[in-house]
This record gives sequence, C-alpha cells and structure tokens, in this order.
Amino acid sequence: MAVPDERPTASAADWVRCEGCSVLIYGKRFRRTLNVCPECGWHARLTAQERLEQLLDPGSTSPVDHVEPLHDPLGFTDTRPYADRLADARAATGLREAVLCLRGRIEGRPVVAAAMDFRFLGGSLGCGVGALITEAARTSLRHRIPLLLVTASGGARMQEGVLALMQMAKTSQALTELDEAGILVVSLITDPTYGGVAASFATLADVIIAEPGARLGFAGPRVIEQTTGERLPKGFQTAEFLLKHGMVDDVVPRSALRPVLGKLLGLPPEQDHGHDQAAGLREPRPGAIVRRVEEVRERDSWEAVRLARHAERPTTLDYAGHLLDDFHELHGDRLAEDCGAIVGGPGRLNGLPVMLIGHHKGGPDLAERQRRKFGMPTPGGYRKSARLMRLAAKLGMPVVTLIDTPGANPGADAERSGQAVAIAENLRLMSRLPVPIVAVLTGEGGSGGALALAVADRVLVSEGGVYSVISPEGCAAILWKDSESAPAAAAALRLHPRELLRLGVVDGVVPEPPDGAHSDHAAAAGLLGEALATALGELVPWEAERLVRARRGRFDRFGVDGDEREGAS
Ligand SMILES: [Zn+2]
Repeated sequence: MAVPDERPTASAADWVRCEGCSVLIYGKRFRRTLNVCPECGWHARLTAQERLEQLLDPGSTSPVDHVEPLHDPLGFTDTRPYADRLADARAATGLREAVLCLRGRIEGRPVVAAAMDFRFLGGSLGCGVGALITEAARTSLRHRIPLLLVTASGGARMQEGVLALMQMAKTSQALTELDEAGILVVSLITDPTYGGVAASFATLADVIIAEPGARLGFAGPRVIEQTTGERLPKGFQTAEFLLKHGMVDDVVPRSALRPVLGKLLGLPPEQDHGHDQAAGLREPRPGAIVRRVEEVRERDSWEAVRLARHAERPTTLDYAGHLLDDFHELHGDRLAEDCGAIVGGPGRLNGLPVMLIGHHKGGPDLAERQRRKFGMPTPGGYRKSARLMRLAAKLGMPVVTLIDTPGANPGADAERSGQAVAIAENLRLMSRLPVPIVAVLTGEGGSGGALALAVADRVLVSEGGVYSVISPEGCAAILWKDSESAPAAAAALRLHPRELLRLGVVDGVVPEPPDGAHSDHAAAAGLLGEALATALGELVPWEAERLVRARRGRFDRFGVDGDEREGAS
C-alpha cells in the first residue's frame, strides 16, 4: 500500500500525481477539474471545505447551530493519549470535528449539507460527529428543507468506546424524524465510507448517490480476506459494484453532481404551493380518457394481443423522456440487485412532481431486450418499485405506473428470491399508499407481474394494450391442451380494452395515434400525458384517507356486482 502521509493534495503541490494512472497533473488544472484526473477519471479525496465549496452556490451559505459534545469521554490512551491525537487533528485540518455542516443552496435549491473529512482521524464517527449530524438533521426538520450527507469514514471512533457505537443509533433516529416529517434526505457516498457510518446515516438516505470508484461497506476488504481467506473480486464494494447489487441509486461523476443534486433537491412538492402545482392538471380535457364502452374501437382479440406485443411500442423510458421534466432514474432494491425489467424515478409532469415506475422491455434491440429480461421482472424489480412508492408516499408525490409485461419471471432464480412474496407485498403496499396512484396498461398486462404495479385509484389501458390473468398461449396449453388455440383463448379471455372497460377492470381507455403507439412515440406520449393529467387532476386534491378508502372500494367490488360499477367521477 502507498504511504498515505506522502500523498500529494491539490492544495499542497503544484503538480499532482494521479493515483489511477500515475500521470502528473498541473495543480491549477486539477482544481479546475474538481480534483478529478482529466486522463482517467480518478476522483481524489476532498476536504470537507473543498467539498462544500464545490457543491454549494457561492454566497449562499450560513452556519448550522454549534453543539458541544463530550470530548475524550473515556480518557483513552493507546500509544498516545486520545486528547493529543484530537488536538493534532484539529490543528492539521482547522476543523473542530470530522464533519462540517452548513446551510446553503445547490442550483438555487435550499439544503442543509454535512460533509465529512477523512483527514480528521479517518472520518471516524464519535460523539462529536454524531452530535453534528444530528444537529444538521434537526436543522433540516426545523426549516423543512432537504438534508444532504456527504460521507467519508473508516468507521466508529475506537477511542470513544461504546459511546461511539451509540452514535449509529442516535444519527439513525435523527433521520427517522425526517422520514416522519416527509423531508428528503440524500447521501453522497465518497471514498471510502465504511463501518458505523455506512451502517447508519450513509445508507438510510432516500436517495444514495455515489462518486465513481467510491467504496462503501461495513467490513473492509482486508478484514474479509483475513477472516475468511476468500479472494475478493476486482472492484468489490466500489460504487459500480454497489449499483449492480442494488445498494445505490446512481453513480454520478463529480462534474455532474451539482445539476443532479439540484434536480433531486427540487423534487419534493413545496408545502405551500402543492395545490398551485396541481393547478395545471385540474382542467378537464374532453376525450383525454375514453370512458364509454361504445366509444372504444372493436378489435379482434388476437390482433389486440399482437399489437400490445409490438416490439416498437414506446417503452417506459421512452414515455419518461417525452412526458417528464427533470426525470432522474433511481436504481436498486437496497437488498441484492437492480432489475432492469422495472425502471423508475421522480420527475415533473406539467410541473407536478410524480414518481414514475414501469416495466421496461427494452425496445426493438434484441440484446437490450435480453438484458431487460423481456420485461419480466425479478423479485428485485418489485422491491425496487416498492421502495420508490414508499419514497413517493414520504414526499407526498403521486405515483404513475406504466405496465407492459408478459407476466412474472419464469426463472428458478426468481423463485429462490421470493417472487410470490415480492408481488404480494406490492399488492398490500399499494392498497394503503397515502398518495394518488394512476396505472396505465400501455402494452401487455400479463398476470401477477402486471397487477403488482396496478393496484391504483385509476386504472387505464392504452388503446393498444391488453390485460389478462394468463397469456393466451398459456391458457390454450392448459385448457385446450393445444397452444395453437391461443387466438381462441384470447377471445375467450376478453382481454382487450373494450371488454376491460365493460368489466370495470379499467376506468378508461387512453387513445393512441391512428396507426398505433408504435407508429409515433411523441404523439402517443402526448395523448398519454393528457390522460395522466386528467386522472391526476381529479385525484390530487383528495386527502389520503379518501384515496385509500376509494381504492380499496374499487377492488372490493370485483366479482360481486357484475357489470355495475361506480363511475370514475
Ligand atoms: Zn489518472
């Protein structure tokens, strides 16, 4: 290993040697590139001061109230007294503790920011850091503005003994208060983030962004290798590894942090202006949703199935691109994986913040379709969608789901990770979500995989969509004992929009361009946007209790009173 003390920093030398590719970079240039190597992209460590200067709008900052924690509570001495080590760290960094907290703005969005400094006793979590993080969270709570935590830490501070361990619980509680108050928390993981910080406030954030190459974990790689004898793969615990394993939402290079964070911090609906934001949606748009059966085009059932499966129909990400401003895709189930067959993230629909979640088949490209599992999610996909729905509920944002899946995943791995449980948990979660939910069957609505995103206040189907308990092929194979009878099964299953509206399973049909959604994505998205705005315009003024009661009533009626149903109005 390199000797850390000899490592040059941008402020200390005219020339900096890159730790990624060993190239020498002129100091001024290095600072211009935010201490990132222009050759290989290596992200150098920043001091807390440098970090906040890079992130916060110039001139926007003000201090967070100071809190005085216990210093050296155990009177600890190893080869040197802890009190001396603490004094040295203070002298060397000019900081009181290993974290610096400020109020300020990022791209105009108010934020309370706490940035850790690895130079200060390895960014270790002791009573002082715990007190400052807690005070930063309380400041967020008092002013109802989002909290940004920039982490860099080796773990809990041994010299403060078990009191250091308690800081994990203390800071976690402080974040719980923000959950209860609906205040957004974002963490930015920088290299390295380990131990007690990783297992508390760093990973309890609503959105976790990581810098490229940043490592995060509870146990460090050396401990794991020494304890188990296991050789760890290259890139273990790096941001890119964590993204693949569902632990972080995104990996964002330093140069893009301000715009990405600014966008995310601007998402929570402003408390005072919530109703103004919905104003653009409330105007009823005649014809945006077709609600009368006789106005829905008759179509042969098998033709409807083939149309719903058309490889060039718009995907969820196509729709997101056309419909939403400031859309940012979030990743991962925070458990094991990031399933590509379900995508989602926050964005603005006509100014209204919404959480968009949908199946994603991947479009016409075969390799991409394979990567997306042809739109058949793993359990991690449902769990990711559940996480995003809970975030929407916390922030008071409506949820929009776009459904396009052949059905649940027929693989053994999906069963091993609890596919049935994951679907069932989504049904329960959606039945009590305290924010409006609008679901649109934009393509294939196949079985439980579709319903897992479709327990909504308004369920709509695109003119070219279908909804069925099983694929016509599957039904034909079981009941007709002949998969060639799929068209007959499709007719018997009554799965196309006109029949779905007659059954009351959908509340309305979303028109498509004359030649189908696949013929003109922009026009299809425009029509979908009108329908969503109409449906949300009805629902956004409703209180949570009314939403949940009506939603449960909607699904309670199925199978009881036949064709009769209450209108959507
Ligand atoms: Zn380099």
